[in-house]
Amino acid sequence: MTNLLTKAEYTAIAESLILPRAAFIDGKFRTGTGPKLITRNPATGEKLAEIAACGSEDVDLAVARAREAFDQGHWAKMPPAERKVILVRLAKLITRNRRELAVMESLDGGKPISDCEGVDIPESIECIKWHAELIDKIYDQTAPTGDDALSIIVREPLGVVAAILPWNFPMLMLAWKIGPALAAGNSVIVKPAEQTPLTALRVAELAYEAGIPTGVLQVLPGDGPTVGEPIGRHPGIDAVSFTGSTETGKRFLIYSAESNLKKVTLECGGKNPAVVLSDAENLDHVAEHVVNAAFWNMGENCSAASRLIVHAAVKEPLLERITARLRDWKTGDPLDPAHHLGCLVSTEHAQKVGSYLSGEAIAGGKMDGPYLPPTVYDVSADDARAREEIFGPILSVITVQSDDEAIPLANDTNYGLTASIFSSNIRKAIRAAREIKAGTVTVNSYGEGNAATPFGGWKQSGFGGRDNGIHAHDQFTEVKTIWIDLNNPKDGDNVG
Ligand code: ADP
Repeated sequence: MTNLLTKAEYTAIAESLILPRAAFIDGKFRTGTGPKLITRNPATGEKLAEIAACGSEDVDLAVARAREAFDQGHWAKMPPAERKVILVRLAKLITRNRRELAVMESLDGGKPISDCEGVDIPESIECIKWHAELIDKIYDQTAPTGDDALSIIVREPLGVVAAILPWNFPMLMLAWKIGPALAAGNSVIVKPAEQTPLTALRVAELAYEAGIPTGVLQVLPGDGPTVGEPIGRHPGIDAVSFTGSTETGKRFLIYSAESNLKKVTLECGGKNPAVVLSDAENLDHVAEHVVNAAFWNMGENCSAASRLIVHAAVKEPLLERITARLRDWKTGDPLDPAHHLGCLVSTEHAQKVGSYLSGEAIAGGKMDGPYLPPTVYDVSADDARAREEIFGPILSVITVQSDDEAIPLANDTNYGLTASIFSSNIRKAIRAAREIKAGTVTVNSYGEGNAATPFGGWKQSGFGGRDNGIHAHDQFTEVKTIWIDLNNPKDGDNVG
């Protein structure tokens, strides 16, 4: 557990930060040719940095350099154990700079510093280390062929791959993508979200300090249409790994279809249920997990459990415990370690989240500038708040009269990212876990798994593959079969 500093100490770090102001291309910071990008502190509205961001010419340049680097093979063909050493060194450099990165992340996205220090940065380090350690431990396969042949099934890096990142976990999503993509030997081009470009740029600088060859990791700040679309349509990019909204994710499938059929992996939205069955015991424990599930990172989380589907028999005692617990979940200045919730990422997003506030709330319900405290509504299953992804700290409570109603209701959504089941009957819980259509189902807890477990969505929550675990390497590698005929060459063949 990280020792937290005081608010005054974090403020002092914030004031001393040197923020990146340009793109990172070809091993150095470089002025992009696109429109300037102003990144603001959403808590104060103040300008943090003006970044010389990218345009499509910069995408062309980055792809050319990435391809050159890949073809030279300094990274792609480096012995796996040596690639491992460099990625482990990157993880160590991030660890050494973790306070600076945590403050940068908090300032840029409005995230509470306690989360940045306790979750985002340590999990990013863990993720990069996990994939680094895997590099020289993945074996390929042979298939049964009979005596006449030997088959060798190998995985090879794709070449030039791109990561399109969201603003809600800028550093962690960067790690989820570059960890396996670099481990597999690719050259990687990253486009951070326009709201939160800072930590990705700093990590690129640290990657070069760690020894990653020029052109192998490049970061192109800019907005979706100016930089994201040219990446999506670029004929020289072999794969795109995207995390963001379902609507934008679908565009990448179109870009791919209309360009070079690059591989596309999408990790998109969710309207995730926490299902509390009639026999859930220890409601204090359930309340603790439901509160964390709904309000962690201000609910700006694709895996937030924003639907509480609860049996009428346990509803009232559970809601009492949830509201009691929320008294300790303070909202305010993201740099104050006493706060569980910081602010929403932008004025536009705060307006969108605010549009869902109506009627009497069980808790919260009032926006204060960019801040919305944890808000709970009792709603019917067809209320927009029970169906649409809000991406804010709003929990919708839906009541069922029987356990049998709960799972069909949990599945009554276009999304399928995560779900949680609470029941004291393990057979019932496992049966429910099997029936729920979602990529990750947690039992008697809320979570996303860890670096070793695949993460991604069913239905419109995802497409094409998984982040995390060994499964993430499928996104960034191609499978090749090499077939060797073992028959004796016929007389007369020239075999030396
Ligand atoms: P949100 O709606 O929550 O801001 P998005 O899905 O729009 O999330 O953003 C996720 C990522 O996709 C960001 O890096 C963003 O710049 C990028 N993006 C947004 N719109 C487009 C687009 N039209 N084409 C390509 N990339 C885009």
